[in-house]
Amino acid sequence: MHADLHLHTNFSDGTYTPEELAGHAARCGFKAVALTDHDTMEGCERMAAACRERGVEFVPATELTAEHDGYELHMLGYFLDSKNTRLQTELAKFQQVRQQRIHEMVARLAGVGVPVKAEAVFALANCRSPGRPHVARTLVQAGLCSNLDEAFERFLRKGRPAWVPKFKISAMEAVDLIHHAGGLAVMAHPGLNHNDGLIPDLVDAGMDGLECFHTKHSTALTQRYLEIADRLQLLVTGGSDCHGMSKGQPLIGSIKIPYECVERLKERVLQRAAENGVMLAGTPACKS
Ligand code: AMP
Ligand code: FE
Ligand code: FE
Ligand code: ZN
Repeated sequence: MHADLHLHTNFSDGTYTPEELAGHAARCGFKAVALTDHDTMEGCERMAAACRERGVEFVPATELTAEHDGYELHMLGYFLDSKNTRLQTELAKFQQVRQQRIHEMVARLAGVGVPVKAEAVFALANCRSPGRPHVARTLVQAGLCSNLDEAFERFLRKGRPAWVPKFKISAMEAVDLIHHAGGLAVMAHPGLNHNDGLIPDLVDAGMDGLECFHTKHSTALTQRYLEIADRLQLLVTGGSDCHGMSKGQPLIGSIKIPYECVERLKERVLQRAAENGVMLAGTPACKS
């Protein structure tokens, strides 16, 4: 009984459709999976239906682009109410800025004599939350780069001519937004932040968990984050961060976390809802 709580579809920068991803999840034998597309929950409805058909439990989620102390970090939100108005407004803002960023990257590419059209990137991305991988794929398709690595290396990575900073919300705000939408806030792949000093601040802000298991975490790093989670009483999560074929090979199946992690998350969500219910109801009479 295992789960993968970090997966992307073509509603952000993955290459699988929700149906394809759910198919892979079922073939890997997962009991539960979460969809964590960047700054969007657009794929969750289809993923939920595709998982239901295949008998896989589905956790609606997203991976928010955030920052703390000048460091970029990604905050996973699990069991989110995708209909929550404030969450929808924030996600729409992320997406609008991401689309604007595509125009800026294309303009910068034009500035160095690389002719790609924003329309071509949007057509290829075909989603509301486009990013650099879509620009990279467009460059490869147009024959302007021979592979994705070359596109990032020559144009898209930080310091290169077409690099444009990304819109981020403060990590504190991300935690608050996730809670407001009924979800749990979990720091994604802490090993990629190269700054564990961020963790206690976010715990103070109410962060619920730490993604201890991740494809980019070595065994030693995983152990380290399990110890930190234990010490700070954080929930433990993990996932493959599968982007389909966009990272060369599909990573789904490479990380399998015990299903008990999902049960712990569900217990916490229910506990939080009960606490909020009591607070909102206000009077002891409403408790029963
Ligand atoms: P963005 O959110 O638009 O800044 O794009 C970030 C995405 O680009 C992440 O999913 C990264 O994994 C991906 N990425 C970064 N470098 C590369 C690379 N060399 N090849 C393929 N994908 C990359
Ligand atoms: Fe990504
Ligand atoms: Fe991430
Ligand atoms: Zn991810």
